[in-house]
Amino acid sequence: AQSKTKRPATLIPGDGIGPEIVKSAVDILEALGSPFEWDIQQGGLAAIEESRDPLPQATLDSIRRTRLALKGPLTTPVGGGFRSINVRLREEFGLYANLRPVRSMVPGGRFDEIDIVLVRENLGGLYVAFEHYIPIGEDPHAVAISTGVNTREGSRKIIEFAFDYALKNGRKKVTVVHKANVLKALTGIFLEVGHEVAKKYEGRVKMDDRIVDATAMQLVMNPWQFDVIVTTNLFGDILSDQLAGLVGGLGMAPGANIGPDAAIFEAVHGSAPDIAGKGIANPLALLLAVGLMLEHIDQPDLANRLRTAIDQVLREDGVRTPDLGGKASTGDFTQSIIRRLGG
Ligand code: NAD
Repeated sequence: AQSKTKRPATLIPGDGIGPEIVKSAVDILEALGSPFEWDIQQGGLAAIEESRDPLPQATLDSIRRTRLALKGPLTTPVGGGFRSINVRLREEFGLYANLRPVRSMVPGGRFDEIDIVLVRENLGGLYVAFEHYIPIGEDPHAVAISTGVNTREGSRKIIEFAFDYALKNGRKKVTVVHKANVLKALTGIFLEVGHEVAKKYEGRVKMDDRIVDATAMQLVMNPWQFDVIVTTNLFGDILSDQLAGLVGGLGMAPGANIGPDAAIFEAVHGSAPDIAGKGIANPLALLLAVGLMLEHIDQPDLANRLRTAIDQVLREDGVRTPDLGGKASTGDFTQSIIRRLGG
């Protein structure tokens, strides 16, 4: 089922297990009738060897042209003064929304039937990191100060993103998570805008709000009450990993970074150098990221077919990679999905 009008998209194989799981994703997409025409570009260690930059200009140019990228995990070089690749991508393309959905997929996980989407504000909050020290006497680091920034405009953009996502994906409720009882300005503005935005969606998407510490507890006590969560940068960083933990860890967690100029899809885990080249990496998180990418380009049917095949392979065929307690290689798992897709 080859469509004539394929959409150009940048493909970054990445480091460590990156090329192995990216190959799996590309093969599965072919079986699904891939709507993408790949422009393969380097990033991470692979790129340093060629151009001394973990994020070469050619890769940035490609993403600027295609506005869409699937990215394998990149090894962050230790030392050498390299800035985080993910932060550079976020700034370069204004990727203000970080989308982190989690869903229980393997029976016997800690929680069954969880299906929550976390939307994290990606550019502001305490992660703008305006930080400095004040020396006292002999101690140059006697006092540490950090300033966070949330704007009305930035808060509105991310909260509208969460409500629009809810509408588009048939979700019923958005929970605005904050700490407005203590950080009255920094996160109070976020809550205030949350109430404003919610009015525009009245009758279509419900809204409630919750303090971040209570949210952390409720996510363990009764996670089924949550649908879509939207929150500021630091809280989102922490809660999205907590969410991944509820359903089996980072190996199952996809992520998307979305902005006006581009959208970049990836697995949340790293390059797993300890198992690279062994053929046992789990491609699931990257495949789920492919599902998000298909939804992003308005191909929900392809995304659903992919997710159904994944569920069938995990639950009915019982084919799983070693990190999920199975014996399957990356290739076995990939072939099982392709078989379920009728390939
Ligand atoms: P990691 O996620 O690479 O690995 C942690 C553990 O999980 C390892 O034991 C690994 O074998 C296992 N694991 C991870 N993904 C797996 C998969 N798909 N299948 C099976 N097992 C898997 O984290 P780390 O070891 O802290 O980081 C390694 C490198 O990755 C570092 O250079 C780090 O900077 C980088 N990193 C990149 C990204 C990214 O590009 N988005 C994210 C996180 C870490």
